[in-house]
Amino acid sequence: MTSPAEGGCSCGAVRYRLLSEPLFTHCCHCLNCQRQTGSAFVINLLIEADRVELVAGAPQPVDVPRDDGSTQRIFRCPTCQVALYSQYGRPEVRFVRAGTLDDPSQVAPDVHIFTRSKLSWVALPDSVPAFEVYYDTKALWPRVSLERLSAVMGL
Ligand SMILES: [Zn+2]
Ligand SMILES: [Zn+2]
Repeated sequence: MTSPAEGGCSCGAVRYRLLSEPLFTHCCHCLNCQRQTGSAFVINLLIEADRVELVAGAPQPVDVPRDDGSTQRIFRCPTCQVALYSQYGRPEVRFVRAGTLDDPSQVAPDVHIFTRSKLSWVALPDSVPAFEVYYDTKALWPRVSLERLSAVMGL
């Protein structure tokens, strides 16, 4: 990814800049993500919240129920309502939707998750790890990303 990567919503009211490379990039094939996007999967860049710099606008949080009973907070442009990023549980890490980058081709998934609900016509490359449900962060993330996560979580 060329740094700093920038992105935004469709109307231009919200613009953001990523101040670092992502910690890790998920391609999630779960039913929640399929429903939220109206598509086959979502691509989420995991990055520390304080490394998502808002250049313009203020995304509004919308709490969205998930199938497991938890809630996912999705931040949307207040004008055009495009979803820019999510928060699951802890607010220290944002899940930025890669499709909102100005150049989404900079991004490729580091892992495919929830492939149990992957649409059958989506073919995954052998070179990228894929999991029926979730995975062991410690086993898959680069050491530098684990250190960044520990730092932001105050561990
Ligand atoms: Zn907008
Ligand atoms: Zn998902």
